[in-house]
Amino acid sequence: MSGEALVFYSAVDNAQEWRAALTAALPDLDVRIAPDIGDPADIRYALTWVPPAGFFALFPNLQLVVNLGAGVDALMKRDDLVPVKFARLNDPGMEAMMASYVIFAVTRYARDIPVFERAKRRGEWDYVHPRPLFEIKVGVLGLGELGAASAKALAAMGFSVTGWSRSPKDIPGVTALTGRDGLERVLSENEIVVCLVPLTPDTHHLLGAPELALMPKGAKLVNVSRGALVDEVALVEALRSGQLAEATLDVFETEPLPKGHPLWALDNVLITPHVASITVPALAARDVAESIRRVRQGLPPLHEVDPHRGY
Ligand code: NDP
Repeated sequence: MSGEALVFYSAVDNAQEWRAALTAALPDLDVRIAPDIGDPADIRYALTWVPPAGFFALFPNLQLVVNLGAGVDALMKRDDLVPVKFARLNDPGMEAMMASYVIFAVTRYARDIPVFERAKRRGEWDYVHPRPLFEIKVGVLGLGELGAASAKALAAMGFSVTGWSRSPKDIPGVTALTGRDGLERVLSENEIVVCLVPLTPDTHHLLGAPELALMPKGAKLVNVSRGALVDEVALVEALRSGQLAEATLDVFETEPLPKGHPLWALDNVLITPHVASITVPALAARDVAESIRRVRQGLPPLHEVDPHRGY
């Protein structure tokens, strides 16, 4: 045994596919798939998705935990973290896939497709005159790796795009705002709003009844980040009252969305089962390998997570 191993844990990912991808990216890496971990003292790196409580404390020489996904809310809220470096996955494949979903959802509204879907079900020809894309204002909450890629893709298509983040951004073609006043402007000035901020203690129920009320009547919401960014009770009410005309939801406060949840019954909601973007092992393993190389040299890993910020 090398004495410098990576432990892999996930109940949902394909461990053998990851082992092959990691070994291709870093041939000297000893990959151990939990529970087959050998001597815990050998483990320096962990690549995990929601491991059992107490998992990280098993490894006295652990230096780096890489979360098997871009969203680290489930990791950051644990009470059994150990003082090591944390990183998450994010690769160009994930950005492209997220941007494709966002473009689909926004374009579906911009081109009045739900109106035609309903007309087809009624067997009626319901003409709505198309609007030029530059007239359609789209807000993107969160201008990180996925938000910025999606905002740029929307701007490149010709939409008028305004984004919002914690720190100021300079993204060609995108008006970038910050702060509470910036959030209120994004909500009140855009007819389609896309949520791509991470779930942290600061962003839990970022969009509640008061924020949804700021949106223009008949606005549309696309949530592809985490369900708990939006107060679902207020969301259902806004969708019933017509304050929101439509929503595309890929994420929910409880997943899978429980049977009988009021969102299932709303005709103006498109529900997808948390599929907006995924990690492709062959691409993401290169970043994991690079992070390990960096940590070996005493450098920060790629896509480092700040536990104090929560993302
Ligand atoms: P990043 O960490 O790269 O970006 C997060 C963005 O949100 C940054 O622009 C950040 O601002 C901003 N932000 C964070 N907190 C606040 C705040 N309190 N106020 C204002 N802005 C804030 O994340 P990614 O773009 O990689 O991913 C975003 C989320 O997408 C993930 O957290 C995950 O939950 C979700 N996701 C969903 C998937 C799906 O299939 N549905 C797949 C993958 C990810 P700043 O730039 O200033 O730091």
